[in-house]
Amino acid sequence: MDPYVYHVFSSRPADDEPAPHPSGTTPEDILARYWGYPAFRPQQREIIGSILSGKDTIGLLPTGGGKSVCFQVPALMMDGLTLVISPLISLMKDQIDALVERGIRAACLHSGMSHAERNYTLERADAGRLKLLYIAPERLASEDFIRRMRAWEISLIVVDEAHCISQWGYDFRPSYLNIGALRERLPQVPVLALTATATLKVREDIATQLRMREPAVFSRSFRRDNISFLVRHDEDKTGATAMALTRVSGAAIVYVRSRRRTRELAAELTRRGIPSTYYHAGMDPEAKSQAQDAWMRGVVRVIVATNAFGMGIDKADVRMVIHYDLPSTLEDYYQEAGRAGRDGRPAFAVVLVKQSDKASLTRRVGESFPPKDFIGRVYELAAVSLNLGIGEGYGRTFEFHPDALAERHGMKEAQVRSALHLLARSGYLEYSDEVGTRARVMILETRAQLYALDLDPTSDAVLQCLLREYPGLFADYVNISEPMIARRLNIDQERVYQSLLLLRRMGVLSYVPMSFAPYIHWTRSREETRHIILPTAVYDRRKQQMEQRIEAMRAFAFDHTLDCRVNHLLRYFDEKPAGRCGKCDLCRAAAGRAEGPSADDIASRIAAAFETASADSLPIEQLLRPFGPNRERAMGVLRELIDRGLYESSGLLIKRIPKE
Ligand code: ADP
Ligand code: MG
Repeated sequence: MDPYVYHVFSSRPADDEPAPHPSGTTPEDILARYWGYPAFRPQQREIIGSILSGKDTIGLLPTGGGKSVCFQVPALMMDGLTLVISPLISLMKDQIDALVERGIRAACLHSGMSHAERNYTLERADAGRLKLLYIAPERLASEDFIRRMRAWEISLIVVDEAHCISQWGYDFRPSYLNIGALRERLPQVPVLALTATATLKVREDIATQLRMREPAVFSRSFRRDNISFLVRHDEDKTGATAMALTRVSGAAIVYVRSRRRTRELAAELTRRGIPSTYYHAGMDPEAKSQAQDAWMRGVVRVIVATNAFGMGIDKADVRMVIHYDLPSTLEDYYQEAGRAGRDGRPAFAVVLVKQSDKASLTRRVGESFPPKDFIGRVYELAAVSLNLGIGEGYGRTFEFHPDALAERHGMKEAQVRSALHLLARSGYLEYSDEVGTRARVMILETRAQLYALDLDPTSDAVLQCLLREYPGLFADYVNISEPMIARRLNIDQERVYQSLLLLRRMGVLSYVPMSFAPYIHWTRSREETRHIILPTAVYDRRKQQMEQRIEAMRAFAFDHTLDCRVNHLLRYFDEKPAGRCGKCDLCRAAAGRAEGPSADDIASRIAAAFETASADSLPIEQLLRPFGPNRERAMGVLRELIDRGLYESSGLLIKRIPKE
């Protein structure tokens, strides 16, 4: 353990006492005071009321519907600590950052933290100085943690992404089952389960697994009436993207699946006069926040991103979300598309498809669920590459690069990652490739002690710069930017890094460098490979469900018999459709048919007639007859096409002019 840790706790002043809320403080007051929001969104107030009355509660709100506020507000109104169980480190970090910025005492515990940070957090919880503590469900399997927790006054347990507890859901994580035991230990503490998607069956399962007593259930429609959902078939997706972005003004997100494509497409769009930036998880944190800021502030209109972009992003006036590549599930799709038009004004969600997309959708199943013996092999190779023998590794964390392993053994990187995620879900290890944690610093000495230090000029400058740029360093860990400090001081980043290391060695500050390394944390000692078992609920059932989900995605994009895109989505989310949306491409086409075909329709049907007959000239009667009552209109369009030189008329025959 780092030697300076003890120092932290002996000399640190206690956190300021919380400003007590005068009695009569309402949830509305808290929302206004800490968030500055004038009103609750639908169902938030009801969920909060239910929690405050001590009832077990289930909240089903769409992504972006504001689930966090539903527990953050009561957490501030209740006396003790609110324990929040959340599956992803990145989700936790985003929320903690936002809470701390609002002056709320929140912290998290996860395997990616340094010893010093983890201890500091536990100490704060011990001393009753935290309002919210976020943990990964794996933490609940740790005896140490459970023992430590006994001393805390816990007033509310929150299970975020609660569908992860159900074997019938698509995202089952066995570690979530630990929460049931926690519940038994704390029977009097109310539980709030939150999720965006849960079928009736999963909902019941959540209540059972969490040992809920007659839970109150609150849900909200998934319908988003201001969004027009459009699917466009086009083999030239880049052209189609540029076209769509030219037709609609305002901020836009373009989702692609490959990191490389984010960069290439942004460059191409910019070249075509549409200012664009890009974002993906592999960028360094500095570059990420620059891209994000530029887009948030409207300096660039378009951001081309992988699905890593968007969580925790709150931009209300996004006018268009384009899917250049198909997501694998309608859940993902709806979540991403739903980032359009949060302000309630008209917005567009456009999916671009080409013929080969069908096959590539199917391939994703094999990528996410490689064969079981392959997974065993990855387990073994990972352990061997880290020099772990059978029975070793428990509790240890290692930097781990799946791309290197894949390359060394001629495996597909995507499959290696999937194997690690499946092993993690099965409880053998934790694996994180949510790269890019920002650097953090906390000062461990008092101001007076700092003045007495004898430092070299560079380290002194770095320290002064920290004190100037980052208020609050004496009270808690603060995210810092090493590149920014380097720029301010006009020195290179390596020297900043070395100075910070020196200051850390001197015990002046605690410093967690910026890191972007994926890692494995062994939650169990290495087992013999033949003993590795992937539970049915983690592998077989999820694989089957993925196939079904992909099928639903395929239907959304390719099924010509659908009546309305929105209805397809609502049915998928177990909601009763109420009439057609009237705005999606299918509804528009149907309305167009009722009024007679558009000029474009007629032109493409004429072209199709030549294709089908594979002839270069056809009798005019054969071309016009299919248009029935719209024959006159079709004749008009055909004349126009002849004027444009696409066809030639000779007597009763129409001849197609080949393109140069
Ligand atoms: P979810 O977890 O349901 O996907 P979040 O809790 O992350 O959604 O909230 C999405 C965004 O909506 C956040 O930026 C949050 O601050 C904002 N938000 C939540 N409640 C309100 C409200 N009552 N008024 C305005 N904005 C809100
Ligand atoms: Mg959430």
